[in-house]
Amino acid sequence: MKKTIALLVLIFGFTYSGFAQSNDAKMNSFIDALMKKMTLEEKIGQLNLPGSGDIVTGQAGNSDIAKKIKGGKVGGLFNIKGLDKIRAVQKIAVEQSRLKIPLIFGMDVIHGYETAFPIPLGLSCSWDMSLIEKSARIAATEASADGICWTFSPMVDIARDPRWGRIAEGSGEDPYLGSQIARAMVKGYQGNDLSKDNTILACVKHYALYGAAEAGRDYNTVDMSKVKMFNDYLPPYKAAVEAGVGSVMASFNEVDGVPATANKFLLTDVLRKQWGFKGFVVSDYTGVTEMVNHGIGDTATVAARSLMAGMDMDMVSEAFLNTLPKSLKEGKVTMQQIDFACRKILEAKYKLGLFTDPYRYCNEQRSKTEIFTDANKKAVRETASQTFVLLRNKNHLLPLKKAGTIAVIGPLADAKENMPGTWSVAANFSASISLLQGLKNVTGPDVNILYNKGSNLSNDSVFNLTAGMFGKSFKWDNRPEQEILDEALAVANKSDVIIAALGESAEMSGESSSRSMINIPDAQEDLLKALVNTGKPIVLVLFTGRPLTLKWEEENVPAILNVWFGGTEAGNAIGDVLFGDVNPSGKLTTTWPQNVGQIPLYYDHKNTGRPLPEGKWFTKFRSNYLDVSNDPVYPFGYGLSYSNFDYGDLQLSDTLLKGNKTLSASIMVTNSGNVEGKEVVQLYLRDMVGSITRPVEELKGFQKIDLKAGESKTVSFRITPEDLKFYNGELKYDWEPGQFEIMIGGNSRDVKMASVKWLK
Ligand code: BGC
Repeated sequence: MKKTIALLVLIFGFTYSGFAQSNDAKMNSFIDALMKKMTLEEKIGQLNLPGSGDIVTGQAGNSDIAKKIKGGKVGGLFNIKGLDKIRAVQKIAVEQSRLKIPLIFGMDVIHGYETAFPIPLGLSCSWDMSLIEKSARIAATEASADGICWTFSPMVDIARDPRWGRIAEGSGEDPYLGSQIARAMVKGYQGNDLSKDNTILACVKHYALYGAAEAGRDYNTVDMSKVKMFNDYLPPYKAAVEAGVGSVMASFNEVDGVPATANKFLLTDVLRKQWGFKGFVVSDYTGVTEMVNHGIGDTATVAARSLMAGMDMDMVSEAFLNTLPKSLKEGKVTMQQIDFACRKILEAKYKLGLFTDPYRYCNEQRSKTEIFTDANKKAVRETASQTFVLLRNKNHLLPLKKAGTIAVIGPLADAKENMPGTWSVAANFSASISLLQGLKNVTGPDVNILYNKGSNLSNDSVFNLTAGMFGKSFKWDNRPEQEILDEALAVANKSDVIIAALGESAEMSGESSSRSMINIPDAQEDLLKALVNTGKPIVLVLFTGRPLTLKWEEENVPAILNVWFGGTEAGNAIGDVLFGDVNPSGKLTTTWPQNVGQIPLYYDHKNTGRPLPEGKWFTKFRSNYLDVSNDPVYPFGYGLSYSNFDYGDLQLSDTLLKGNKTLSASIMVTNSGNVEGKEVVQLYLRDMVGSITRPVEELKGFQKIDLKAGESKTVSFRITPEDLKFYNGELKYDWEPGQFEIMIGGNSRDVKMASVKWLK
């Protein structure tokens, strides 16, 4: 290693300490000097992020990818796991390529590394920014101890269509909350100093509007007004940029008829010019060549369009590598744009400290001691219990007592590989804690735990297979459904209480996992109904990566705890909550519809000219349905606790304000329950009259407070004109004077309200 570094020092003329104290000017002159030595091919090589194939240590040097690396045709690699492999390919780059430029190593470190945290949608339900930041910090620490210096996270796509499987990867439907989370994640990954060996480059994705795919079908067309785009969908990406995110990934979808991958408006006009983004832009997986299918040209044309629109790095397509030299000759791209993109990649490598030490993230000692540690698992357990949402708890069935006989029934009860959830590239599946194991861990010898699988995942064997991909398969039980059910009922009948572990498998959400029906699959639904019919107390522990349609369950199942996919320690964390060692405090960050036909259903909708009068269902010539009310089953912000929280009246410091003042809105919250608990107090605003129509409410603040039994606290929010701003019809970001409703409550539906007039 020392030899390599000495070589680098010779070539680049810098020393260790010189790099450590680097600043922009130093970086620029370093990169200027380096780029002077680079051929056109080497510059384009930096823009190439190929699929790594299967790199086998020992043979790495003879692989196709190695040949390309030696030829200076590779800027980085991704989703390679293991120090040996990473070290081996980095060695090829820094010892055998002409200019010895180190590679950047990326990975989808989406919610943890080997220690998997809850899926992002779950994390968002904690409404706890320091926990979320910490989860990213731990992920970065583990990944960077294993050779990775770049993560394809955070995913901040606003999603209002639960049919879309990737809703699991984001923070739900709200731009304000989504922006806070985007910031926390970037900070967690990147820290304050990217050159540290335990911080990694973040990549905000998928820019832009990927979550608005028509019909919730993955990769589908997106079309929306600019006003909606700027007010509702772009804010989290912008927040990540403001937080200093080092890279941005373009989305697969089109926007205004131009795929994001070649969309100059998005990549240059908004991202670079309006928001001042300084890092680099990478395409999504084969996003460049997919534009041939989109129908905007052949490979050379789409690659040229992409580069000229502001794309810097081409993931997997190799279209930049193969076509840009010719396109340059033909005048379809400029040298200036190639130089710009190359410089951006080199800057990222420089900031990560890779030129100082290309093996900075390959520290054997760290990889042995900092990955999948007890401390990290403990952090997951604590975090996961904050992400569960108690949807229903009739007659205080929960928490359960640690006594008697409990029947744990359902195909997800003993499924540890499913606990980490979707996009867990590096997770340690085999050491994850299933629900069954977790319940055994948290209950003492006084509890008799029985188990039965109860059903297949679904009655469709093909669905069973596709919903169990990537080693998370569900063994298909060939017996008739009734026979399987009878066996489960026999077990249930021996118990004092039933825990039904049902819902989605990990692979039923995530990429390319859209669903047209978002109910609990048929076989499990049949099982649930049969279990409810036993008349025994029953708790539904619901696993899911998206909102589900739970109308029947809400009406018939006494207790429902939604647990998403809680990560490595999910089973233990669920046990903590079910038995009351932890009081649930998660709140939904999505609206849960009654049926698929209501979608898109989201809390900050417009009023329309014919709103439905409050509390009404069908009224002729009003905006509603004949066959279902407009209400969700569970509104945005909703979640119960083992405590009860009572809200007093909303107090405003003023009812009339002028100009740049601060309004204080306060409310007294009392825990009238018997146990200590946490409550997410939410602030919403409504701008009553605008130059364009405004939502019926918008989240503008929240505080998570802790209250002892019987304790009261006054929660205050400071509101300034900054909170009133929005993008108007001319896309100008400003506020307009007038009447505003201020609302505070424990969810978006149940709020206390007061009014204020705010003049300019
Ligand atoms: C996904 C991205 C991911 C990339 C690399 C794509 O299919 O859309 O989110 O980062 O693959 O694995």
